[in-house]
Amino acid sequence: MTRAINFNAGPAALPLPALERAREELLDFAGSGMSVMEHSHRGKEYEKVHNEAIDLMRELLGVPATYEILFLQGGASMQFAQVPMNFLAKGKRADYVTTGVWGEKAIQEAKVVAAQYGEKAEQVVTTQTGEGKAATYTRTPTQAELAKIEAGAAYVHFTSNETIHGVEYATAPGEDFPSFGASPLFCDMSSDFMWRKVDISRFQFIYAGAQKNIGPSGVTVVIATKAQIEEGRKDIPKIFQYRTHAENQSLYNTPPTFGIYLVRNVLSWAKSIGGLDAIEKQNREKGRLLYGAIDAHGGFYRCPVEARCRSLMNVVFRLPTPALEDQLVAEAKKAGMVGLKGHRSVGGIRVSTYNAVSVEWVKTLTDFMNEFAKKNG
Ligand code: PMP
Repeated sequence: MTRAINFNAGPAALPLPALERAREELLDFAGSGMSVMEHSHRGKEYEKVHNEAIDLMRELLGVPATYEILFLQGGASMQFAQVPMNFLAKGKRADYVTTGVWGEKAIQEAKVVAAQYGEKAEQVVTTQTGEGKAATYTRTPTQAELAKIEAGAAYVHFTSNETIHGVEYATAPGEDFPSFGASPLFCDMSSDFMWRKVDISRFQFIYAGAQKNIGPSGVTVVIATKAQIEEGRKDIPKIFQYRTHAENQSLYNTPPTFGIYLVRNVLSWAKSIGGLDAIEKQNREKGRLLYGAIDAHGGFYRCPVEARCRSLMNVVFRLPTPALEDQLVAEAKKAGMVGLKGHRSVGGIRVSTYNAVSVEWVKTLTDFMNEFAKKNG
């Protein structure tokens, strides 16, 4: 069997050792005579997997003890609604910073909830340029733009990496990470979760779908301070309250057990290769190779994103014509590379280079791009 060189944007490539482990354990998990999928979520076999996944995440990402790690369902899209349902409080607005389509979707849902509550969700900063079909995003905001955000909101929400536009806040929270003001900081980290360490203490609330860097679809991670979770409204159904899931260690109802099992396998692989420091190094090398290849051909390849915020997870670029883009995708496919077509809403090429995408794979692609430019440029 030849494994595809997979640049899909999510669901995305998974590390082979994590899949092989699943294959080995599939029919007979831990000598129990059945697969992990067939175990009760209340039994000791599954409980061990569940706790190991949470413990590995806490260890690899350095999540302080004052934060809960929750495994939920419904995708990051459900968080777009569940976050305002919990935290839009009486007389407090929610502020949104938008750098792409996922941020737009987040505020649209927040506005629906706000209207129901008689409160406000406001887009305080956007980097959108153009209108209608020509609307696009090519950058993160400047510190001067963010400085306009006023204190006093229930939370300020941003998207650390816009998966479709390839726009990422380049610095991890730390010294030069931009300031979003004094309100509690909330982040949709779906497409750049766990590719590097971040200073979790800068955030009150983080959420991410698993299907890019840490597992299959069907698992949604929430990392939030216990105090923030306690702030949540109590007048919404229990299933939507984060405190319900925190109080029950994400076992209030039946969790996606097989998905969480695979997250465990992926995180245990991540630990075995040196943790997030080693993974970050690889990801930076992949970005260097790809943006290097894009910039090396006198404009044949063109990345629309400002250099300071080019994503290291989703590398987007254009060719001189859509026909050439189709040709590149088709020829790459013949060479064993899949997932290169840009999102249907923006076109172009998108290379997703999540944690399981190896430096070798990216070298294969950049060699191919160099050849392609020579032949067609
Ligand atoms: N936010 C971001 C940044 C995403 O990339 C995606 C999915 N590509 C979502 C939210 C939505 O995630 P889901 O499909 O899991 O609901």
